[in-house]
Amino acid sequence: MKDSPLTLKQHPERAFLLLEQFRALIIDSQEKTIETSGETDWLPYEQALQTLLEIRRLAFAMAKGELSYEIKEKGALAGALKSLQANLRHLTWQTQQVSQGDFTQRVEFMGEFSAAFNEMVAQLDAMAQELQIQQDELIRRNDSLILEVAERERAEAAEREQRKLAETLQSAAMALNATLNYEEVLDIMLERIGDVVSYDSAVIMEVEGMRAYVRRTKNYHRYGAEIERRVREACFDIPNTPNLFMMFTTLKPYIIPDVEQYPAWDRRKTGNPIRSWLGAPIYAHGQVLAFFSLDKLEPNYYQDEHAHKLEMFANHAALAMLNARLFQEIQRLAVTDTLTGLYNRRYFFERACQEFVRSCRYRRPLTIIMLDLDHFKLVNDTYGHPVGDLVLQSTSRVILQTVRKSDLVARFGGEEIVLLLPETNLQQGEALAERLRHKIATTNIPINEHSITVTASFGICGGNPADCQMEPQRAIETLIELADQALYQAKQTGRNRVCSTQPNFFKTTAA
Ligand code: GH3
Ligand code: MG
Ligand code: MG
Repeated sequence: MKDSPLTLKQHPERAFLLLEQFRALIIDSQEKTIETSGETDWLPYEQALQTLLEIRRLAFAMAKGELSYEIKEKGALAGALKSLQANLRHLTWQTQQVSQGDFTQRVEFMGEFSAAFNEMVAQLDAMAQELQIQQDELIRRNDSLILEVAERERAEAAEREQRKLAETLQSAAMALNATLNYEEVLDIMLERIGDVVSYDSAVIMEVEGMRAYVRRTKNYHRYGAEIERRVREACFDIPNTPNLFMMFTTLKPYIIPDVEQYPAWDRRKTGNPIRSWLGAPIYAHGQVLAFFSLDKLEPNYYQDEHAHKLEMFANHAALAMLNARLFQEIQRLAVTDTLTGLYNRRYFFERACQEFVRSCRYRRPLTIIMLDLDHFKLVNDTYGHPVGDLVLQSTSRVILQTVRKSDLVARFGGEEIVLLLPETNLQQGEALAERLRHKIATTNIPINEHSITVTASFGICGGNPADCQMEPQRAIETLIELADQALYQAKQTGRNRVCSTQPNFFKTTAA
């Protein structure tokens, strides 16, 4: 290079060309190429121009935002620009990192710009943190709102469910209270239970002593005629049936989640396909009247809520059953003679009138027997009134054991008993009276250390009604009067005998 001035002097045009190229590289914007002389003397200058060209290209590229232009030239200026390019590339990467949320990025190498960048990142970081706090708070509020809404919905659903249950129970209670007929109460219980607790099949058992008798069944036909028959006829010994015994003693419902897992379950041997079971006692004043027994084909169906609902329904059912039983008892007492347990005179007339009308309508025979104990006054006088009562009770029992279920037996007064025999003509009535007479006369009535016997006299009248125009009440009074006359005849002719009479409006024909 120390020869350069000489070279410049020797070749001024060449030097001017170099300068011109230098000027063009600095000033012009068009793409350039370097013209080279191929002479060694000019090589350093031409190489400098080549370096300048590359630096120019790099500068243009960076001006357009391209940071990937690679420059191989060496030298201080090229080195400085390469360093600037590398810094800008790193800055680009750092900015990308910041954009992805990395606010730890800091720039140290770009003076004033570094401070501004770092300040911006720090502010972004603070804003992001603030935003995060606000977002967390929003999420927290949203979560608690969701929880609140869910809780409200749950409470509303529970309230709706409660209201529905209360309505169902009230409606069932109204249906149950609408009748005092015991059999109807059982029917309504069976009909309404499904509104309260779901089942595939159901049973109502009635408790008598320590046994539970199946009284109503539902849907067992689905499992086959044989299973249905067996369930209908089932009677359980309560102490030997653990689920019933549990309810009997605790007065609480009982759940068997899966009968397959319940060792005491007998019915599975019979092929009954049910799997889960729920029972509840129906009790009043601590006394179990009956059991509900509900079945489901799927295992693990019944839960505590079902048991609770069934228990509430059972409480209503118990009241209805108790009322119907009391009513039945009152009705029975109203028509019963307390000493003998026979029907009373009032009821006898009521039923006898109905039987007379029936007998007329279907032209069927009807017979009335009056009987009076012989010398009963003597029994009272000899043994006392209580013994007389005992004799009356014993005689009544003998009569009830001898007659048919359809026959009506009533205490007519004192020691007089009247029998109304539907579907029975005079001859058949006489035969029955004769049997009764014999039984009474041969029945030993134990009194203290010994026993006594009594006899009775019988008056009969009966046959097919010929005059059906007569008032039923008047017809029955006439029949009783005639039977009484026959009875009087039996007394007159020696007692312990049967006498009969035939009223004008009766024809003695075979039934
Ligand atoms: P007869 O053979 O003529 O019928 O003689 P009798 O002694 O049975 O005469 P009567 O029928 O007139 O007497 C009825 C007696 O029955 C009188 C009365 O004291 C008694 N008697 C009526 N009702 C009862 C009762 O509820 N208990 C008892 N122990 N005695 C009664
Ligand atoms: Mg008498
Ligand atoms: Mg008498």
